[in-house]
Amino acid sequence: MERLQKVLAEAGVASRRKCEELITAGRVKVNDEIITTLGVKVDASKDIIQVDGRTIKQEQKVYVLFNKPKGVITSASDPGGRKIVTDFLKPVKERIYPIGRLDYDTEGLLLLTNDGEFANLLTHPKHHVPRTYHATVKGVPHGTLLDKLRDGVQLEDGMTAPAEVDYHDISEDKNETIVSITIYEGRNRQVRRMFDAIQFPVIKLKRVKFGPIFLTGVPRGKFRHLSPKEVKELK
Ligand code: URA
Repeated sequence: MERLQKVLAEAGVASRRKCEELITAGRVKVNDEIITTLGVKVDASKDIIQVDGRTIKQEQKVYVLFNKPKGVITSASDPGGRKIVTDFLKPVKERIYPIGRLDYDTEGLLLLTNDGEFANLLTHPKHHVPRTYHATVKGVPHGTLLDKLRDGVQLEDGMTAPAEVDYHDISEDKNETIVSITIYEGRNRQVRRMFDAIQFPVIKLKRVKFGPIFLTGVPRGKFRHLSPKEVKELK
């Protein structure tokens, strides 16, 4: 259920503020009843909402999994002219927004949707959605350093919550290690800062899982829609 003015604004009727004015002016009906107060919540998929007698068209909710390449910005526009995620999502006709963000140089799983409530739910710190990354570092961090990451490290915005950390792959040729790390928070540049704290700076970062959803099967720069079952599992 969402507030009536939000549903109207999302359907493109007018700005949220203007939609509030339409409601208080008595120009909006829900299931044939005129609504003039602002607290009313509606179910956009079921309720019939009319403005000046015209039924508004609800945009269908879409949920997209995108495999973001590095060198792409997670935002709706970039004044610097860099590539943005929606450049890769042109076939999706609905206006969708990223759920959280990945750094410019981070690649991997990014979800996008036009369902604001769903996006807020998943990014709210209270929700603790697990996010798994493969972090490549130079050399091989000792097990006790990985224990530090597991237990929590001190960052400038506080201690990190317990994380799951394991070696994913050690390449002796390249003298590199890929560490798999699952965190339950979504602070800005958190994984990079955690590895900085143990003095093993990340040279490549890829998100491979978000909640129960894996990146597997989606090539870099491509996307797929989530199934209704996957959306339900995320909620
Ligand atoms: N942690 C980071 O450091 N960067 C990301 O893009 C995501 C998590």
